[in-house]
Order: sequence, then structure tokens, then C-alpha cells
Amino acid sequence: MKLIDAHVHLSDAEYADHIDELIADAKNAGVTALVTNSVDLKTCQSDLELSEKYPNLVYPALGIHPWNVNVLKENELEQVIDLIQKNKNMVKAIGEIGLDSKYETTWEKQTMVFEKMLHLAESLDLPVIIHSRGTTDKIIDMLPSYHLKRVLLHWFSYPMSTLQRAMDNGYFISEGPPATYSNGIREVIEKAPLTNLLTETDGPVKYWKSPYNGQLTKPSFIRSVIEAIAEIKKTQVDNVAEQIAQNFEVFFNIKLI
Ligand SMILES: [Zn+2]
Repeated sequence: MKLIDAHVHLSDAEYADHIDELIADAKNAGVTALVTNSVDLKTCQSDLELSEKYPNLVYPALGIHPWNVNVLKENELEQVIDLIQKNKNMVKAIGEIGLDSKYETTWEKQTMVFEKMLHLAESLDLPVIIHSRGTTDKIIDMLPSYHLKRVLLHWFSYPMSTLQRAMDNGYFISEGPPATYSNGIREVIEKAPLTNLLTETDGPVKYWKSPYNGQLTKPSFIRSVIEAIAEIKKTQVDNVAEQIAQNFEVFFNIKLI
């Protein structure tokens, strides 16, 4: 069974001391692809290095997270764009990018950075991985101005009325450990076609409810997510894993080995 973690932050400081262990644990669990999402220049560089260290397993999504726009250093945005352009053959997506309605004070800067990232994705013909807390409708309004063939709304949770808009546009969504305990996420999974779904951990984000109980989030958690999706969709675990792996290959234009 090929398992996919389509959204994780391997360059996060929480993973720094045990990255080899984490990767070994993921492989043992059957994880065959991890898309490591950066949030700033430093993590962009580190995610590229990790993809070189673990070829055909770790794939980099590079970009600037909306939470990081307020701590960007002078020229950091330009340096990120330059780094992505120079490494365009290795980069598999622009992410994690987006808008977050909780951070109102940085709204203008968030929008400026997000628009630059969307332009970059368009010019390099790369997929985008989007954070859209409280902004999903707004983002779906914005996206048609860009020629983006592949859009992933990560941790899609609400509003439910927006799910249909996203599906009508052919966007993908990714869901993670809350699939095991959150009624809202389980409803999203029930309504979304399996062909538009990817799995993620968003590690090192921690999950406090059972079965995770606040332990360090690992890509190997994906197995429990796949099992939850199979239960919700009333199908076999193997069918779900196979479809998600196919979705991964289509979305990221990567052939799994
Ligand atoms: Zn994330």
C-alpha cells in the first residue's frame, strides 16, 4: 500500500533533531511520498536540501506562509522567488501560501505576498497548496484570474457550501488526522469525491484528541487517516490508498516509485 503525506513541514524546528528517525518511521509505515511545505526563505532552502537527501520520497513545495509575512526580512520575498525560479526543476508546488482572516493586521501584506506567489506558480506552471482559514470563498473568487491548472486547498473544513464550488472548479482538498475524530471534517470527506482527495498530516501540528493524544505528529499517522476515509466512504482501505496515490501522481505530476 502506497501512503501519501501531501502536506507536512519537515523543516520545522520541532523535527530538526530526529528527521532521519521520522523518515524511517514513515517508510516503515508505507509512506512513499512526502510533500514538505516551506513557510519562509530558511525553510525553502532546508526543504530543497531534504528533497536532495531523500530523493523520490521527499518533494519540496516552496513559498511564504501567510503567518510569516509580518516577519519577512528585507528582500526575503524576492530571494524566495529567485530561489524557486533557480530550482524550478526540483520544486513540485508553490506552498504553503494563502490568506488567514485571523491575522487582520497583516491583511494587506498577506494579499500582496499571496498574489506574487500565485503569479509565480502561473509563470512556472506549478500547482499551488493553499491555506485558506476563513478565506476560502474569497480565494476561490481570486483564483480564476490566474492560469492555475492544479489547486490544493489544504485542511479544507468550512464553509460546507464552498466545497461544491471548489469541486466544480476541479480543485483538490487534503485532509489529515481530524478525519478520525472531527464530525465537520468527516462530513467534508463524505461529500467530496475520492478523486479530489489527498491525505496530509500538516505535522508538526499536534492533534490532542484520541487516537493521537498530543504526541509528536508523524507522517506515519497517514495510515489512520486512510482507514478513517475508508470507513466514511464505506470502501476498502486498499481502494482508498490506491486512489489517493493516483491523485497524488496526477496533481503533482510525479511518478511514484
Ligand atoms: Zn501547513
